[in-house]
Amino acid sequence: MSHETLPLEFFQQLPKSDLHVHLDGSMRLSTILDLAAEQGVELPSRDPEELRKAMNLGQNCGSLVEYLKAFDVTLKVLQTEEALHRVAYELAEDASREKVRYMEVRYAPMLHTRRGLRLTSVVEAVLGGLRAGREAFGIEANLILCGIRNISPDSSLEMAELCVAYKGRGVVAFDLAGAEYDHPAKHHRAAFQLVRDNNINCTIHAGEAYGPESIAQALHVCGAHRIGHGCRLREDGDLLHYVNDHRIPLEVCPSSNVQTGAVKDLARHPLKLYLDLGLRVTVNTDNRLVTDTTVSRELWLCHLKMGMPLDDVKTIVMAGFKSTFLPFHVKQSMLREVNADLARFHADGTIDPAPLALQTPKPVSSTRGTAVSAKPHAEA
Ligand SMILES: [Zn+2]
Repeated sequence: MSHETLPLEFFQQLPKSDLHVHLDGSMRLSTILDLAAEQGVELPSRDPEELRKAMNLGQNCGSLVEYLKAFDVTLKVLQTEEALHRVAYELAEDASREKVRYMEVRYAPMLHTRRGLRLTSVVEAVLGGLRAGREAFGIEANLILCGIRNISPDSSLEMAELCVAYKGRGVVAFDLAGAEYDHPAKHHRAAFQLVRDNNINCTIHAGEAYGPESIAQALHVCGAHRIGHGCRLREDGDLLHYVNDHRIPLEVCPSSNVQTGAVKDLARHPLKLYLDLGLRVTVNTDNRLVTDTTVSRELWLCHLKMGMPLDDVKTIVMAGFKSTFLPFHVKQSMLREVNADLARFHADGTIDPAPLALQTPKPVSSTRGTAVSAKPHAEA
């Protein structure tokens, strides 16, 4: 590891993407308390610090199943359109504050129908929140809809149908999340078939709480275009080379991987190995609240705990923008901008001033007015 380490603040200024971020795991703690009070919902505690402890925020949970328990709390307050709109908007605000330019936010709409919301309303409320976030903060975002491994394949198929209905309207992909052990992706193959028949992208959480067989199944049976986590890919060299040769992106979430027990600690995370072997690795938050993190913090930890020099971090940032589910020409122009922006950042910790074009918020597409209090973009 080098003697000089760059501070977190340096990473906060880098342009970034977040391709693996769960809406229901990335809300603000204060918003949970607010919404619970508004809706008369019971929480494990009304005290922020106690609630933080009860939800294991940022704590090692030992397993993915334990980690997922925090979502029992967040989902309780996310059963109305107003709540969904609000958390999507706030996520866009939080991400834009740390210079995330583009985000693919994921969640499972069927988990938000307990109070009778229709699936279409669940999707539109979140799209509306992200649109308002774009208008207020200039951050681009799209949605990925998830099926859940430990819920029925029929439900996954219904989510796949929802992806088809909202293709080209803000939904860019289908994902399979949830308990990986004992719940193979192939049970949900009908959902993947429908999505692929409609030329829609898919990504799958795999190799997190199960071995490389799960990654092979995601790729070869379900046709995944990206892999969520992929921690255990290193156990199968042949598959690893296949993933590398086909430039299949891995959506790595380092701190989350430690929290769920997928890797022992950051120093032993396979990310650096994957990068050195040439794999297309991206770094993401997974859950801003549950993992208590940001993209900047994850990149900083790569630098600090895995010994990555700035050039490695820049490679990862570029890999993120290369791996988006955006149309090719949109992706190309975003990549050109990001590449130029990254050249301002130097390994000695200095940052050249941004050209004027980057200092002003992007002109926003003039869509309808929004219901939220869209504050003017604060100059950094
Ligand atoms: Zn995830």
